[in-house]
Amino acid sequence: MVGHCPFCLIVEGEAQADVLHSSDHVLAFRDANPQAPVHILLIPKDHVTSVRELSDKHAGMLVELFRAATHLARAEGIDQGGWRLVANVGADAGQTVQHLHFHMLGGRRMTWPPG
Ligand code: AMP
Ligand code: ZN
Repeated sequence: MVGHCPFCLIVEGEAQADVLHSSDHVLAFRDANPQAPVHILLIPKDHVTSVRELSDKHAGMLVELFRAATHLARAEGIDQGGWRLVANVGADAGQTVQHLHFHMLGGRRMTWPPG
């Protein structure tokens, strides 16, 4: 756990979240402010600030995370329609929580480019 990182608090069970998946290195829970009918956040259980800080040692975690996303897409019924996985990195991208997270969005038609 790092400081008062809100996502580390969820990992530690010290803050409430609607958890959908928990495995060795990955947690997934519903976004508190959903931007689509399905909006799930997938995070590493260990604190990593952003994509910028990823290194070789995170390879297994990332595969676990992407496989969890595919599993959740099926469970949420959006796999056939399609879904989006996006990580905001830094201020210009709109990253507000400094704990790596991938947004999984689905259940509606997406537009491109995102705002
Ligand atoms: P980002 O702007 O990419 O850093 O996204 C942060 C996301 O985390 C936003 O979509 C928030 O709605 C979401 N969020 C922040 N705090 C929580 C929380 N405690 N539980 C669930 N989602 C959260
Ligand atoms: Zn954290």
